[in-house]
This record gives sequence, structure tokens and C-alpha cells, in this order.
Amino acid sequence: MKVVLKNYTKLIIIISFIISFCLILFIAYQSNDYINQLSENNKKLYASYKISETMKLFRNNIDTLGRYQRDYSITGDKTFMEHYIRKESETNSQLDSLGAYLNDNQEAMLFGKLKDLTFKKLMEGKVVSQKANIPGMSQGNNGASEGKQIIEEINSTLVEIVNELTKASVVLIKRSNELLDVSKKWTYGEIIIGILASLLAIFILFRDINIRNKLEKELRGAKKQAEESAMLKEQFMANMSHEIRTPMNAIIGFSGLLEKTKLDESQSEYLLAIKHSGSNLLNIINDILDFSKIEAGMLHLEKIPFSIPNLVSSLKLMFGEKAKEKNIQFEIVTDSKIPQSVYGDPTRLTQILVNLINNAIKFTNKGKVKVTCELNDIKNNEARMVFRIKDTGIGIPSDKINDVFERFNQGNSETTRKYGGTGLGLSIVKNLVEIQHGKIGITSKEGEGSEFIVEITYQVNNESISSLNQKKEINVFGTEQNKFTVLLAEDNVMNQKLASTILKGFGLEVDIAENGLIALEKVKNNNYSLVLMDVQMPVMDGYTASGKIREEVKSNVPIIAMTAHTMPGEKEKCVSFGMNDYISKPFKEIELYNIIDKYLKSDTSLEDSLEKPLTEEFKINSTSKEINLAELYELAKGDEEFIKEMIELFLEQSPSDIQEIGKAIKENDFDTIRAIAHRMKTSVGFMGLRPLLKPLSKMEALAEVNDSMDKIIVEFMEVKQVSENAMEQLKKY
Ligand code: ADP
Repeated sequence: MKVVLKNYTKLIIIISFIISFCLILFIAYQSNDYINQLSENNKKLYASYKISETMKLFRNNIDTLGRYQRDYSITGDKTFMEHYIRKESETNSQLDSLGAYLNDNQEAMLFGKLKDLTFKKLMEGKVVSQKANIPGMSQGNNGASEGKQIIEEINSTLVEIVNELTKASVVLIKRSNELLDVSKKWTYGEIIIGILASLLAIFILFRDINIRNKLEKELRGAKKQAEESAMLKEQFMANMSHEIRTPMNAIIGFSGLLEKTKLDESQSEYLLAIKHSGSNLLNIINDILDFSKIEAGMLHLEKIPFSIPNLVSSLKLMFGEKAKEKNIQFEIVTDSKIPQSVYGDPTRLTQILVNLINNAIKFTNKGKVKVTCELNDIKNNEARMVFRIKDTGIGIPSDKINDVFERFNQGNSETTRKYGGTGLGLSIVKNLVEIQHGKIGITSKEGEGSEFIVEITYQVNNESISSLNQKKEINVFGTEQNKFTVLLAEDNVMNQKLASTILKGFGLEVDIAENGLIALEKVKNNNYSLVLMDVQMPVMDGYTASGKIREEVKSNVPIIAMTAHTMPGEKEKCVSFGMNDYISKPFKEIELYNIIDKYLKSDTSLEDSLEKPLTEEFKINSTSKEINLAELYELAKGDEEFIKEMIELFLEQSPSDIQEIGKAIKENDFDTIRAIAHRMKTSVGFMGLRPLLKPLSKMEALAEVNDSMDKIIVEFMEVKQVSENAMEQLKKY
């Protein structure tokens, strides 16, 4: 689900904001207006309060003026008149300030009246004051009664004014209350709108958070999906690799077996074609898988000791024939200064060189392909190696030269049709060089040839490399009487046949299980020396079956996974399910032999079957290189006395057997040789002297057909030497 803010929602939000903003502005303006009016009202109220105060003073003054006037009339004391004059000017100014306030019609009229009356009163006072200048003259009673009347009139006018003012104040107070109410309402409106706006903001905020959460959730989902699809891709790669390599394994393996049989000329030719196509197809599959691994960053490098000169010279064998077929020269020049052993990944170096030489031969129709391997520099125990692959082939057009390292890029559209290929090779080579921190360059001229230059630095290995590249010889496991039985869990019928043929060739008995469940049942009910477990099978896969063998059956039988999965971590996965080792398909006969040899030699399965625990001495010797007493122990069921007797017997018997063979050789007595060799096979089988089985078998076979005595002597010498060594060891018991 995609979360998007629809346009109309955005519009609503914007409009709501504009409206709330305008409303708040309007309300604020209105409130302000009412507050202004309220403040105006308050000012008026204050003014009317001030007038009342002034009027009180004014009235007092009028009274005081009357009193001064009267007192003067009565006493004729001029000081009263002096007081009167002072009060008069005060009263005038009060009258002026009253006039400033009283501007309402009614009030103005009353004020006019008040002014007139005051004037009258003051005039009256003036007359008195003038008379005061004439000593002995008094105002008389008439004047007093008129003054009193004016004062009463002034008082009543003042009362009227006060009444008017009170009325006006009541109106003002009422108005103020109204204004206060309205202003309160607007304030409430403002608060409500404020709250609404806040709510809207909160709503938008929450909505935003919600949207963000949803987006985050979507993002997490997408990330998970991407991870899952990466895993699926990896799984798909693994499965594809398995599914394609399994039949390829059968095709290539059977071609190998078929090659060993008698074939007529055309059959050999067809077989060759099958082998070529098979290995080509395997190359393409490997290219694609390698490329995917590089792209996914899953390609891991090894760092093991290896010999560059040996690796390079093996290329001669690999390509010599091919170059001959095309009638071109193939030359390898190796610098003598190259260190004998370095640490690095020989498989990847081989892959790089094989790819480049393959191309050079493929794109060269006449002339030569020259591979040069030089030591450029050696510093701090690091050797900078330069490999040059030069050909006199078709070359690369200058405008294409920079693109050849791009994936799926070929020189021109004709290339696939004429020369085949996928256009992935050079891209893989470049990646392989770069992940080893190396460099690759190219110089080429169309029609003249190309030169690829690879530069990689390797750490020098200063240890002896005598043990490097030692090849193992294929022997048979077990004896005629006591064969090892291997359970082969494999669903593919052709692979079953192929593997069992190879296993039988190693002298092993083979039992087959078509799926993991059958394998589990068989392990429960039988005592196998080893299990070869295909990991991908119907009903129950090899991982689950191995896990159950360990957990439910509690068996320690060595389990070797056979898998065409070539992904990194596959071995670790197999081990995590309790498997002991891993062999990748398609495997070579020698690889299978070596891996089985590792486990049948150590006899873990046989040790398990012993009833009594062994003494330390026997344990140590039972795993000695030449002697393997496990079978004897099994037979003895832990009876050490019996074992000792058997060893003594063997020590007595063997020298005489060897002596007898020696005698028979001298006498050219093939029958005796054959009989003793056969008999010895049984006894050496008991003693676990496996290295003797092969020469004894050969001797027996040679004697059977009366073959050359010289060949028999060669085998006899080996039998003699190994038995003497073994006897030395056995005597130590
Ligand atoms: P492929 O060989 O499968 O086509 P590569 O990636 O190995 O793919 O090579 C890409 C292209 O580079 C080839 O198609 C070819 O055109 C060109 N090329 C590579 N090596 C040589 C060579 N030695 N001589 C001429 N052209 C070459």
C-alpha cells in the first residue's frame, strides 16, 4: 500500500488554516474594538466621577461664599470679604472645569443655568464688597434673602446636574457591562477557534506521524522483502547450481567411465563430443554462478600455500593439445626468480589464466600464444607477479577495447556465432583480479593480436614446499573378508550408479538409500562405516536426515555431504547439521577417495562398535599409519589376550611367509606365490595393514596369469618392506 497525501486533503488543510487565521484576526479586531469602547466608557465614568467631586467642592465653595458674605454683613469684618474674593476666583475656575465636562444637551442647559446663578451670586458678592469700602454701610435683610434664594437655586441646579450625571453613569455602566459581555464572548470565540486550530494542528501532526510510521513500516517491509528476495536469489542460485550440476556430474562422470571401456573409433569420437560439450556447458554454468557470486559479494578467497611455477606449467598440459589442434604455437616462459611457494588462492589464479589463455587460443587462428610469468618486484616478503598472455590473433577494434571487460560484452556481433562464449569471461577475470587487489590491462591491434597483462601481489611462503602437490595413490579400503560398507544416500539414479561404481572401485560395499528418510532408517538398523549424503533429496533432505542421525539415532558414523551447492557457507551449514565433511559435485575420483580415506583411516565408526573400552596403548597403536587393529578388536570384542595371541601368531607367520615367497620367486613357482599372497592378504587384513593389500593383490593377480617375475619382484619388495616396518611396531606390544 502506498501512502500519499491526496491533493484535496492538502487543499482542505490549507483552507482551514486560512479560515482560522482570518477568523482569529477578525475576532482579535472585534475584541480590540470593544476593548477600546470599554476603555472610552471607563474614561467617561471616571470623568463623571471627577465632576461629582468638583461639584461637591463647588457647592461647598458657594456655601462658603454665602457664609463669608453673611458674616461680613453681620460683622462688617473686611477679612471675610478678602476670604470671599479668594474663594470667588477658585469657584470660577471650578465652574470652568465643570463647563469642560458638561457638554451633553441637558447637562449643558443645566450648566448654563448654574453658570447664570453663580454669576448672579458672584455679582451680589461684588456689590457687597464694593459697599465694604464704605464704612458703616450694611447690606440689609433684602440682600440676604435674595442671596439665600440664589444659593437654593444653585443647589437645586446642582442636584439636577448630579441626577443627569447619575443617569448618564448608569447608561455608561450598562454599556460597559454590555461591552464586557460581548468582549468576553469574542474572547471565548477566540479560545474556541484557538482550540479548534490546535486540534487541527494536532490532528495534522498525528496524521503526519501516522503517515511517517506507515512509510517507515513500508520501508521496513520493503527492506525485509529485499532481504528475503536476496535470500531467495541465493537459494535459487544454490538450487540452480545443484540441479544443473547434478546431471552434469552424471554426464561428465559417465563419459569418464565410458572412456575406460573398449570403444570403436566413431564411439570415441561421439564420446569426445559429449565430453567437450559437457565441460563447455559446465564452464558456462560456472561462469554464470561465479558472476552472480561476485555480484552478490559472496566470493571468498583462499589463502593457502601454492607454487606459481607448478601452476603455470600445468597450463601447458591443459592447453598444449588444444593449441596443437588449431595448429598454433603455445609457449610458456617462467621467470626463474619466482618464489617457489606463495600464499594465495591458486584456484582463482588458475581461473584467471585459463580464461585468458582460452580466449587467446580461441581468437587466434595462426601464429602463437605466449604466456609469460615474471617476478616484477619482491619487497617485504611480497612478490609482485606479472602474467602476460600474448597472442597473434584477430585482435580487438580500438573502439571496443575499453568495453571488453564489461559483462555480456563481445568484440562484435559475429563473435558468438563464430567463437561462442557468453561475454562474461573477461568481466569475471577483471573482478577476480581486483578482489585480489591486482590490476589488469590490455593492448590490442585489430588483425595483429592482443596482450593481456595481469599484476597480482602474493605473500611469499618461506616454508618448504616439498609437501605441496603430492598426489595420493588410490588404494582399496578394507579387506576381502572385512569390507567397509558405505551408505550412499542419493536420489538421482545415474549418480547412484556413478558413485557406487567409483566406491566399489575403492573396495567398498555400497548400500543405497533413495532419500533422507530411508537413509535414516538404514542407519538405525545397520552398522555403516560411512555415509555419503546428498543434501537435496525428496521426502527428507540430507541436512534433516543428518541432524536426526546425530540426535535421534545418536550415531557417530562419519557423514560426508555431497552437494552441488557451491555457495560460501555451505560447508558450515553441513557441519551445523552434524555432517563431518563436504564434497562438491561434480567430484573427481581422487577427491572422493581422499575424503573417504580421511574418515575410514581414522576408524571412528569402528571404535564405536567396540564393546569394551580400549587401553590407551591399544588406542594409540590402533590408529598408527601402517597398522590398523580396529578389525581385530572388533573380532576380539575387546579381549586383549586374544589380540596379543593373534599379533604373536602374525609375527611368527609373516617372516616365514615372506621367506617362502622369496624362495618361490627364485624357483619361478607362480602357484606358491599366488597361494601365499592370497593367504597373507587375510592376515594383513586382520592386522589392518592396508598398505600391503594392494601389492599383495597385484602379486596374486600377476602370479595367476604367470606374468613377468620382474613385476612380481617389485610388488614383493614393497610387501617385504612394509611388513618389516609393521612387525617392528607390532613387536613393541
Ligand atoms: P567470451 O569469450 O565468452 O565472448 P569474454 O568476456 O571472455 O567473453 O570476452 C569478451 C570479448 O572480448 C570477446 O567476445 C572478444 O570479442 C574479445 N576478446 C577477448 N579476448 C580476446 C583475444 N585474446 N583476442 C581477441 N578478442 C578477444
